[in-house]
Amino acid sequence: MATLPSQTDRTPRLSTEAVHAGENRPYPHHALTLPIFDTSTYTFENTADLRQFMEARMWGLAEGRVEYGRYGNPTIFEVEARVAALSGGEAAVLMSSGMAAVTSTLLSLLYAGDHLVITDDSYRRTRQFCLTFLKRWGIECSVVPAGDLEQLEAAIRPETKVIVSESPTNPYMRVLDLERLVAIAKRHKVKTLIDSTFATPINQRPLEFGVDLVVDSATKYLGGHNDLLAGAVVGSESLMAMIRQNQWVLGAVCDPHTAYLIQRGLKTLALRVHQQNTSAMKVAEFLEAQAGVSRVWYPGLRSHPDHDIARQQMDGFGGVVSFELEGDLETTSRFIDAVKLPLIASSLGGVETLIEQPALMSYFELSSEERMEIGIKDNLVRLAIGIESPEDLIADLAEALKVV
Ligand SMILES: *Cc1c(COP(=O)(O)O)cnc(C)c1O
Repeated sequence: MATLPSQTDRTPRLSTEAVHAGENRPYPHHALTLPIFDTSTYTFENTADLRQFMEARMWGLAEGRVEYGRYGNPTIFEVEARVAALSGGEAAVLMSSGMAAVTSTLLSLLYAGDHLVITDDSYRRTRQFCLTFLKRWGIECSVVPAGDLEQLEAAIRPETKVIVSESPTNPYMRVLDLERLVAIAKRHKVKTLIDSTFATPINQRPLEFGVDLVVDSATKYLGGHNDLLAGAVVGSESLMAMIRQNQWVLGAVCDPHTAYLIQRGLKTLALRVHQQNTSAMKVAEFLEAQAGVSRVWYPGLRSHPDHDIARQQMDGFGGVVSFELEGDLETTSRFIDAVKLPLIASSLGGVETLIEQPALMSYFELSSEERMEIGIKDNLVRLAIGIESPEDLIADLAEALKVV
């Protein structure tokens, strides 16, 4: 058995906060559950009421009241408060997708002439946004290998404004040393943004290490049921106020029904993530012992290059296991087709176990050589564990491995 990660004092509180943080009780009509306010706009009693509101808002005293749906919604405000509490942040902003959270945040931080540093082995669309979209507005981007903090520091220039990384990364689960990252960023007065989607606040809270901004694709674990798209960004009150005001302009708002589903998912977040941590560990250990498997990438395994740092800074190793099979693209596809319980789909973090071959799912249009250049091997499988019994998953994988 691999060593368990460290447990912080906050860990047990998170299960409670996942259910109750940010609640504004009593709800109308003393309903138990959070009401969904389906409204695109808000009314005023008369002109005096409107004047009073506008006056109060000028001084930042409107206390959650807004005049139009794009500027906010009581259902969404409450879910934002819960996400902020779980992540240990002062405030959070929900967005229409994880990518909306990434792009709106970076557009808020960067101006023409600025520079940013991102790590490779990161979400493909984030890299695409930084390398192609931001470039159009005169913002330059350096890509450094995930896990090489010396190269990362060397890439920082006087005009660097932000370092963007994921931890754990996709698909190799590289875990960044957040304490060292923050020390480097502070030394150069650069902001840090961590996409913590793979960890969730149950397993890792980057803000506790001094990271400035955390982004989550709520589509994954926070929602948890593969039935919504949303994103969240969490940080200080002042950074969130800036990002929120830009959201009023950029328009990538979450809708109240989706916010409701997120908070319903959050109630079981701790339960689900604990189960997924346990199952993923069992599956990773099983896979590592199989002859047909040449390499397993799971930070809970001692063989993972970042096992030690993961143990120090995380409360659990997460639910995604990547592995390489003995064989080529076709052998790997045959294995995926032989698996019965996991569904072939991209995404992760829901109750259903999903399986994919990144070479074909996310990087299909690239040649094998181009994929190798960015580290996506033909024989790589990404398994996103759901909440099914790990024994059933292992039995299924064992059967399918007979084709390799
Ligand atoms: C899925 C994902 C995103 C994008 O989120 P969407 O909700 O799909 O827009 C960003 N980062 C990571 C790590 C992801 O897994």
